[in-house]
Amino acid sequence: MSLISKALLWIGEQDTPLKKDRLKDYVTDSVINYYNHKSKEPKLNYKPGKLLLDSGAFTAAMRGLELSRERVALIQEKLNPDLAVPLDYPLKPGMTLKTMQCSWEKTKENILYWQYNTKLSGKLMPTLHSWSNSSLNENLRWIYKHVDAEYIALGVIVNPSFTSFTGFFKDRQPTPEMLSNIHKAITLIKRETDFKVHIMGMGSSPLMLHFAYFMGADSTDSAGHRRKAAYGKIILPGMGERYVCNRTGRFSRKKLSLRELEILKECRCEVCRKNQALLYTDWRARAIHNEFVIKEEARKAKKLLASGFDVYEYYLDRIFSNSKHGLQYLWRHVKLLVKYAPIR
Ligand SMILES: [Zn+2]
Repeated sequence: MSLISKALLWIGEQDTPLKKDRLKDYVTDSVINYYNHKSKEPKLNYKPGKLLLDSGAFTAAMRGLELSRERVALIQEKLNPDLAVPLDYPLKPGMTLKTMQCSWEKTKENILYWQYNTKLSGKLMPTLHSWSNSSLNENLRWIYKHVDAEYIALGVIVNPSFTSFTGFFKDRQPTPEMLSNIHKAITLIKRETDFKVHIMGMGSSPLMLHFAYFMGADSTDSAGHRRKAAYGKIILPGMGERYVCNRTGRFSRKKLSLRELEILKECRCEVCRKNQALLYTDWRARAIHNEFVIKEEARKAKKLLASGFDVYEYYLDRIFSNSKHGLQYLWRHVKLLVKYAPIR
């Protein structure tokens, strides 16, 4: 097993792209952005270096939409990605165990459909969902046996208590339980298979990104950095994110602390080099800044991992002791997980 994570980061892009030239980027996009373009052939409005194309299942599930499997597959074929995620059925809070099992059965059916009835076989990135230790084992074994793939994506990995979960469930909320589940899944995948692991949606904030790589993920994506920008958030290098304006982007600029301003001053992104004030008024400027920051973090992770796992740990110790985001307890939790059940 390779000891060094590739620390891949896929940048989120969409039909109205932030940048047209993406030839140097690993890009992730979703069928959901093309699904209703009924009048015309779906086509990309940018040029990606590599393209990971999601099915849009998670977004659809959150919005209560039903996607047609044939249409999703057709759009994926037309957009011709390097990796395609078959339409899956994400687990949702409040589902009974039986419903979760049914969802998984439908997901399996689709994975086979993608493998045998589309032009996307050989490019598949199947999604693993599980609701207990035994389903984690079984579902992983099923994918390994039936799917020809280099990467496996972690979908919703939860415990049976998920049936009574009533909280807000959208993006990955960092809790010790969620991190334990991810770590458990990565450990099992690395032990039992030769899949590389992609964690969906864990690269939108520097801290989560580092957690993913530190726990042994090979790849993640940052589809959320653009949405954050639209909501008035900027990402601070090595830290979390801060609101700098309200959604209309015109007033109520929130003040950053002196230390945060210092950190921001160091940013070498194209916006900050030319006119940092744009961060307060222009969401595109924030999106460009956020993308730059998150890419820098991934680059750093890759370099640190190449220098040795201890070096990476030391770096993260420093980051977390410096920051005021109150997430030190999560970092301690991650360290314990990795030390207790090392996969390297
Ligand atoms: Zn910047």
